[in-house]
Amino acid sequence: MVFSKYNNFSVGTLKEEIMKKILLSPTKIVTFLACRDKFKWTYLDKRGKWFLRAKHYYSFGTTLHRVLEKYHSEKYPEVKTAEQVLSDMEQNWLSAGYSCSQEMEEAMMEAREILTNYVTKQQERIRDAVPLYLEKQFKHEYDDFNLIGRVDRVDKHSDGMLEIIDYKTGRDTVSEEDVKEDVSMSIYQLLLRKLYPESKIMATIIAVKTGDEASYSLNTDEMNEFENDIKFIANEIFKFNPEKSEPEPKPLCENCDFKRLCIKYPSFVEKASLNGIKDKLLPGKQI
Ligand code: SF4
Repeated sequence: MVFSKYNNFSVGTLKEEIMKKILLSPTKIVTFLACRDKFKWTYLDKRGKWFLRAKHYYSFGTTLHRVLEKYHSEKYPEVKTAEQVLSDMEQNWLSAGYSCSQEMEEAMMEAREILTNYVTKQQERIRDAVPLYLEKQFKHEYDDFNLIGRVDRVDKHSDGMLEIIDYKTGRDTVSEEDVKEDVSMSIYQLLLRKLYPESKIMATIIAVKTGDEASYSLNTDEMNEFENDIKFIANEIFKFNPEKSEPEPKPLCENCDFKRLCIKYPSFVEKASLNGIKDKLLPGKQI
């Protein structure tokens, strides 16, 4: 039973969470794997939200994702040429997180270049596939949790193959190994496999800055192993007791929004000193 697994949970908003079956998304799973305390501050303990800061790279990525969705959608015939794409991008630009207008102007110039190159490449390309889904959320219900994933695009090829496409806006290159090891891409393949058990499914990451792309298709054994891993992680999340969790210093802490919360734990400061990263956590501040 899912509720018995939550017996240890009593922090803040978790009451609402336990009233329904837990939703696991790629972001939640990746956050939990990176740092359990980050997971706690992000999803379980409402004090965390006061420390979250807007990130310019999220704004940049979201702006590009939105305009690419329109570019590939039949619903937006007015966003099809490079000029139209750039105009849409400029009108719907998200400005949160930029430290100054110059930083934002530079980002906008980069976005113009990226989108112009992207549209040019698409126009030159002969592709035997059409978009089947754009910005679509998929969900699969397991006994104790629901797995969800929002996919940028799914193309259907003429031979019936389904290709999951994920735009990455912060990287220049991508390899087959990157796609194979990407938790989100594997979750998307798993979710699509549940919906289309007979179809061949492939996942592709496009580094939109350069147009570099790579694909990988999990075979049946890899898919089964990955699904078991997800069930194992879900069980670890059920067992996780946020009240007893004590943060551990790690390289990730340096740029983490929650470090002001974690330094309140004496053991965290002690370990940070031993690891020699205390000064990096809050430079210039007496901890
Ligand atoms: S500061 Fe470090 S330990 Fe604390 S939540 Fe962030 S990554 Fe985790």
